[in-house]
Amino acid sequence: MKKRTLSQKKRIIHDLNAARKQTGLPGLEGGSRICLKCGRSFFSMGNWNRICESCSIIISKREESLETYHIGR
Ligand SMILES: [Zn+2]
Repeated sequence: MKKRTLSQKKRIIHDLNAARKQTGLPGLEGGSRICLKCGRSFFSMGNWNRICESCSIIISKREESLETYHIGR
């Protein structure tokens, strides 16, 4: 996963909200949020985004290593 800069994230939210407006959906609220995993504040892309980028990377790495463990037993 590539790391995105803050301005890139804001740009993505802006584009998403433009598309959501066209389909009659409410806009996403991007902004500062506290990570559920580490408790640090991070830039959230919306209500569904509650874990910071570094924690989500850790989670996906853990899943990868579990898979490797099962395959390699
Ligand atoms: Zn975190």
